[in-house]
Amino acid sequence: ATPTAVLVGTGVAASNGILIKGGEALERASRVSTVVFDKTGTLTAGKPHVVDVRALLPQLGVADVVELAAAVEQHSEHPLASAILELQRQQQQQQQQQQQQQHKVLASGVGGNSGAAPLLQARDVEVVMGQGISGWVQLARFAGGGGVTDTLLAAIQSAAAADPGLDRGGSSPAALHGGSSPPSSSSKLHGAASAAGGPPEKKAAASEAMVSVGNARHMAAAGVAVPAAAEAYMRDQEGRGSTCVLVAVQQVLVGVVAVMDPIKPEARGVIAALHQMGMHCVLLTGDNWRTARAIGDQLGLTAVVAEVLPAGKVEQVRQLQAQARHGVAMVGDGVNDAPALAQADVGIAVGSGTDVAIEAADYVLMRSDLEDLLMALDLSRTTVNRIR
Ligand code: ADP
Ligand code: MG
Repeated sequence: ATPTAVLVGTGVAASNGILIKGGEALERASRVSTVVFDKTGTLTAGKPHVVDVRALLPQLGVADVVELAAAVEQHSEHPLASAILELQRQQQQQQQQQQQQQHKVLASGVGGNSGAAPLLQARDVEVVMGQGISGWVQLARFAGGGGVTDTLLAAIQSAAAADPGLDRGGSSPAALHGGSSPPSSSSKLHGAASAAGGPPEKKAAASEAMVSVGNARHMAAAGVAVPAAAEAYMRDQEGRGSTCVLVAVQQVLVGVVAVMDPIKPEARGVIAALHQMGMHCVLLTGDNWRTARAIGDQLGLTAVVAEVLPAGKVEQVRQLQAQARHGVAMVGDGVNDAPALAQADVGIAVGSGTDVAIEAADYVLMRSDLEDLLMALDLSRTTVNRIR
């Protein structure tokens, strides 16, 4: 390979916002036959928003479900957490406005703070990568503190009672007051015998409840059963490409938040062009299978690998490398993607991504426009062919 050709190639790339880290990377990129895509933030905009919320207990409204989820999600940096917190903020603003209106009507001229409730406090919050988040939430002034805590806990208790298979063994006094871990290890699913220890404790004194927020895997690990009605709702939402975030209190599912991250406008066209170039394209995601397939359908992409844990992305790339005719390129943006970007023959980071991803990559698309991926691969081929 002549250094001059590489210099010209990388120069042309740079003027188009494509950073190439050296001649070897360029050589490898010219021989790629498989392109693996991360979903969130790479093929989708990476700015998910809540499209629907379903409350599952009559005693708890949609706003309550959002409050409870936001209480723990305030400790997460996941895009899904941002979507839920954004909705909580809007909800709070609306409540504030309503209260102000009422003040005006009842006693015009009375100013002061209307006192819309801030986020509920959560402690001992535990993030489970690729699954969700859990923590103890202080419910004392839940929804304004008007005795809703008791209603909530009563509702949860009756829901648990209505389902005799639902044992809340984790709510032992020790776990409630001194424990720092979610009641996952001692919790049981349907049909299991009650865990050793006393009966489920009332939380009236502590006014705290374990709130778990995440996907089906996270619920299974926390011993939360998902009723058929919730399953049906999830099937429907996921079939449209939304991600369902499940919300449980004391191991009882209280709601589902459907979050949508729309695909980038140019994504479908780019996949079509790559197919035209003879590339095998693969969607690789930690999201669930149904959502991943729905997004794949929207993109014209049939090769989908879903429910991959953060550590599993490297292994998936390795497997694809074993199968590929030629090299494998991985396109991603997240911290999660960095090891897979390094493992691939060519790691391609989109510029809006995290520093870690950009560092691990051989190519950086500074403009975060997927069209630039076509140019990057095209340019690499042209440059190397010219060399030979
Ligand atoms: P990806 O970046 O491919 O979406 P992640 O590993 O970040 O994969 O997440 C995989 C899945 O885990 C998400 O789709 C979601 O269902 C669940 N999850 C992870 N973190 C959270 C969180 N903070 N809140 C709710 N769900 C979460
Ligand atoms: Mg991503």
